[in-house]
Amino acid sequence: MNNHHKIVNRQITDCCIVGGGPAGVVLSLLLARQGITVTLLEAHKDFDRDFRGDTIHPSVMQIMEELNLRDRILQLPHTKMHSLNVQTPQNTVTLADFSHLKTRYPYIIMLPQVRFLEFIIQEAAQYPNFHLVMGANVQELIEENGVIQGVRYRGQGGWHEVQATLTVGADGRHSKLRQLGGFESVETSPPMDILWFRLPRQPEEFAGGMGRFGIGRIVVMLDRGEEWQLGYVIPKGGYQKLRAAGLEAFRNSIIEVVPELNNRIENLQDWSQIAFLSVESSRVKRWYRPGLLLIGDAAHVMSPVGGVGINYAIQDAVVTANILTHSLKNHHLEISDLAKVQQRRELPTRLIQALQTLLQKRIFAPVLTENQTFQPPFWLRLPILQDLPARLIALGVFPVHVQI
Ligand SMILES: Cc1cc2nc3c(=O)[nH]c(=O)nc-3n(C[C@H](O)[C@H](O)[C@H](O)COP(=O)(O)OP(=O)(O)OC[C@H]3O[C@@H](n4cnc5c(N)ncnc54)[C@H](O)[C@@H]3O)c2cc1C
Repeated sequence: MNNHHKIVNRQITDCCIVGGGPAGVVLSLLLARQGITVTLLEAHKDFDRDFRGDTIHPSVMQIMEELNLRDRILQLPHTKMHSLNVQTPQNTVTLADFSHLKTRYPYIIMLPQVRFLEFIIQEAAQYPNFHLVMGANVQELIEENGVIQGVRYRGQGGWHEVQATLTVGADGRHSKLRQLGGFESVETSPPMDILWFRLPRQPEEFAGGMGRFGIGRIVVMLDRGEEWQLGYVIPKGGYQKLRAAGLEAFRNSIIEVVPELNNRIENLQDWSQIAFLSVESSRVKRWYRPGLLLIGDAAHVMSPVGGVGINYAIQDAVVTANILTHSLKNHHLEISDLAKVQQRRELPTRLIQALQTLLQKRIFAPVLTENQTFQPPFWLRLPILQDLPARLIALGVFPVHVQI
């Protein structure tokens, strides 16, 4: 791609990471610790992000322990979720019980993503070879002879250029690098969308996470200490119809499934308190091109079922650092190095996406589109498979460890 812009600033780095989400910040820290020059470009001016997933899974805590960060993470204000349950008007079923897992962290930590990202950035900032640019909106790839050699972004004062041995697209579900690089995606179509909002939580109410299933309706409740984070699941494409019916009708439909919220539902006064999430699920066929690698949601957009997007993105970052550190230190990157990252991470991603699709088809779709009540899948009653959802959600398919 030719440069037609007046460049106000040029920088040279070993690794240019685009996107300061969980994948990008963790990869930055891992490479910076190894003395590799890292430039992290984040389009936003801060890390604040509401309803973006605030879960730290046991697999991530294991990684934090390996980085000697565990105790300080646990000092940040958080709540713990020991199981995921489903409640219907008839009974309560446990879908995933983390307390039986063989791990030092048999729970999911609920911690605002902004706190986690800021914490990791603070760690990375201790290394003089780490450079963070906020408000850097990457718009172009620098390509020479078919090799990506960095990016151009719009930032303070105009266009900037970063030249890099490796460029990593960690820029999330709407990845610009995926689009610029011409990566081909395989998409599945989840049958639902979600509306997120908050209501006060009373101290005596149950702790942890719960899916409340009524006829044709599902409300996910996540314990955030003094608040409930609530996810109202709707059939795909149903948002306009719901809005047209009005806020009063929306409030009533929540109360039908979760009657105890009746005494505080009036806190929901305006649609601006409600965030709409279009649920998507996809993965690129090939995660790399010479000089460019996609990781995290940029390579595979995860459905929110099981809330695994963050831990899979962080596991991608760890595998990337394990495999590429040596080559980056030597300033010599082979395409086969990039292929190894995909080889390690593709199978876990495909397996978890297949499980999510199965749960969406068997559990969510019948309730949302056929007005059925929740039916636990038969295999959840088989003792040998009972721990499987908990294990896949909490730990991933294969354990991932920091090896550098
Ligand atoms: C509403 C919602 C709820 C979710 N809930 C959960 C949950 O409970 N648990 C869970 O594990 N996962 C959840 N997820 C999924 C989870 O947020 C993602 O899987 C995870 O954040 C992926 O991390 P990432 O680092 O790959 O990308 P992201 O976190 O998306 O980060 C990408 C970053 O790139 C930046 N960026 C984008 N374009 C550019 C550009 N051109 N130039 C520079 N920077 C750019 C963005 O600003 C962003 O900061 C949820 C997602 C959503 C949308």
